[in-house]
Amino acid sequence: MAVYIDKNLCKGCGLCIHFCPKNVFDITDEINKKGFNVAAPTRQKDCIQCKLCERSCPDLAIVVE
Ligand code: SF4
Ligand code: SF4
Repeated sequence: MAVYIDKNLCKGCGLCIHFCPKNVFDITDEINKKGFNVAAPTRQKDCIQCKLCERSCPDLAIVVE
């Protein structure tokens, strides 16, 4: 099981942080090619595979496997 974020699709909107019931995501200091601070699944060991993040990301940047 893993949560992936395509960093160059992410726009740092924070919706994944808002919707994840297990508080898996953080916005990081890393800046992508578009100039946005990207989200990362820093606590993915807590993930319950509900896929709310995948469905809530407006840029389809998240994949839960
Ligand atoms: S919802 Fe998508 S675009 Fe927004 S911060 Fe999360 S991964 Fe990035
Ligand atoms: S699948 Fe659910 S628990 Fe896992 S990171 Fe996405 S929203 Fe959070």
